[in-house]
This record gives sequence, structure tokens and C-alpha cells, in this order.
Amino acid sequence: MHMGLTLSVVVPMHNELPNVGAFFARIVPVLESLGERWEIVCVDDGSSDDTFSALLEMHRREPRVKLLRLSRNFGKEAALTAGLSHARGDAVIPIDADLQDPPELIPALLAKWREGFDVVNAARTSRQGETWFKRASARAFYKLFEMMAPIRLARDTGDFRLLSRRVVRSLERLPERSRMMKGLFAWVGFRQAYVMYDRPPRFAGQSQWSVGRLFKLAIDGITSFSAWPLRIWSFVGALIALLAFAYAAFLIVRTLVFGVVVPGYASMMVVLLFVAGVQLMGLGVLGEYLGRVFEEVKQRPLYLVMESRGFEEASGEPRPD
Ligand code: UDP
Ligand code: MG
Repeated sequence: MHMGLTLSVVVPMHNELPNVGAFFARIVPVLESLGERWEIVCVDDGSSDDTFSALLEMHRREPRVKLLRLSRNFGKEAALTAGLSHARGDAVIPIDADLQDPPELIPALLAKWREGFDVVNAARTSRQGETWFKRASARAFYKLFEMMAPIRLARDTGDFRLLSRRVVRSLERLPERSRMMKGLFAWVGFRQAYVMYDRPPRFAGQSQWSVGRLFKLAIDGITSFSAWPLRIWSFVGALIALLAFAYAAFLIVRTLVFGVVVPGYASMMVVLLFVAGVQLMGLGVLGEYLGRVFEEVKQRPLYLVMESRGFEEASGEPRPD
């Protein structure tokens, strides 16, 4: 580990060209004011605009800005993982490039860390610039997640938080491919603290989280922390069997009392379709998990690095990427 490097800031970036200048203009003075040794690890997550050239320019002017360029867009979670494993600071802070995570909060996060906390969460007191739908769906997701998974997620936080070196090391020991970072942060435990802030809207550009992508993240989150959706089918099956027995008893009694009644086409169809539908749903859930098992057993790397700048001098030898 690099001696005396206090703080690493890790920034995943995907098509953030309009934000690059403003981001560094705001964060560098904050870091300089700390009077500590720091580095900024930028991860270009396969941007199709000129984000990387802009970053190269920054790196030339300020060598403490270090660059990783992934071979394609692997998604924010993978980009963050790449950045975390290249960061060398005693404390590591993942931060978004769009200035939605105010850099001015960094001194407060560090202060809590000095008090002995391992994870210092930055929690939003407001969610400006977010739609009603996004807020409501976020709330529904937290409720559902905690009903099913045995961990408590940090409320109203993004990935903006401070992680101590031992938390980063612990995260590196979690090899899974489907990485809901917020779940992993909660899973590792350790002493957690909160610092509150007002979350501003994006400085420039568009959020890249479509409804579809958020939905996928929610499914990934639940399936990687809970087997509850798998187990529920035993109960659904038992319930349907119970109903079937009751209905059978009713049919037998009715036949004994009133004799054979032929009409029954409607009820047959209803029962048939209902049971078939329930079975298909169960199969679908099985498929979700099976697909994830498949992803995991392939053991593919989480990301591939195409280029890197600035890490060599930190460790004394080039990193084996
Ligand atoms: N990001 C990334 N890869 C992606 C999508 C996003 O590295 O595939 C980065 C993005 O550049 C930004 C951060 O992740 O720095 C958060 O993205 P965004 O602002 O779109 O998400 P939101 O703030 O809406 O949650
Ligand atoms: Mg954002």
C-alpha cells in the first residue's frame, strides 16, 4: 500500500464530458484544503464521447488525477468496483461526476472517519430534480427488499460515502458478478455513521438510469440477497393444494347429494388456467435464479481495463491489467 496516502476519491464516468471541467474545478480545492495526501481515481466506463481525452488533459495538469479506461461500458457498479480496487488511500470515497454528490461534504465524512467509523454514509435530506415516480418506486423497493433480505440498507443514500481501508478490502473479497453496491456496503457491516446533505439536481447532462435499468437493478438486488422469491412457491403450492382439496370435498358431497351434474366447463377452465399461470410464474422465478447462477459460475471478470494512467508510480511497478 502507498505510504501516507490518506484519501482516494473514486469517480465512475460514462459520457460525462459536460461535467468534467466543473467537477474538477469544485473537488480539487476541497481536497487541497484538507492538507492531506490524496488521489482522484477516474474510471471511464466506455464513454462514447470525449470524456477520456478530457480526463487525459486533467491528468497531464494534475498527476494526482489517475485514470482507468474500461474496454467498454460495463455499468456503474463494475466501474466503481474497478475504481475501488485501484484506489490506494486509507479512506476511499466513491462520488458521482455530475456534482449531485457535493464535494464540500468530504471534510465532514473524513471527520467522522477519524472518530473511528468505517462507513460514513452521506444521506440526502431532499431529492431535488427527481420525479415523483422515482421517489415512490425507490420507497417501494426499500420496503420490499427489507421484507425479504436479512440486511438493512442505508436510507436515502447513493454510492456517495466514505469507506475505510478495511471495508474496501472486505468488498474485494466479495467475488459476485451481480453487484448491488448498496447491498454489499450494508452486508459487510462494521461501524456505520451518517452525514446529512441536500442532494442537488444534476449539473449537466441526463441521468442514465432508465426505468428499465432501475427495475433490473431492483431485481438484481433482491435476488442476490434473498432466496425468499424461490421459497414462496412452496407456500403458493400448498395453498393451491389446500383449496383444491376443499373444492374436491365440495364436489364429492354435491355429487352424492344431487347426483351427477355434467356442466362444469367454466370452473374446469378457470382452475386449469389459474394453476398453469401460477406454475409458469414459479418457473419464471426459478429461471431468474438459474440465470444468475449461470452468470456466477462463468467466473468472467467484472470489467476489463483498456488503458490506465498514473497508477504505476504509486506502487513502484505497473499493475497487471
Ligand atoms: N455511470 C457509469 N456507468 C454507467 C452509468 C453511469 O459510470 O453505465 C456513472 C455516471 O457517469 C455518474 C454516476 O455513474 O458519474 C451516476 O450516474 P447517473 O448520474 O446517471 O445516476 P443517478 O445520479 O441518476 O443515480
Ligand atoms: Mg446523477
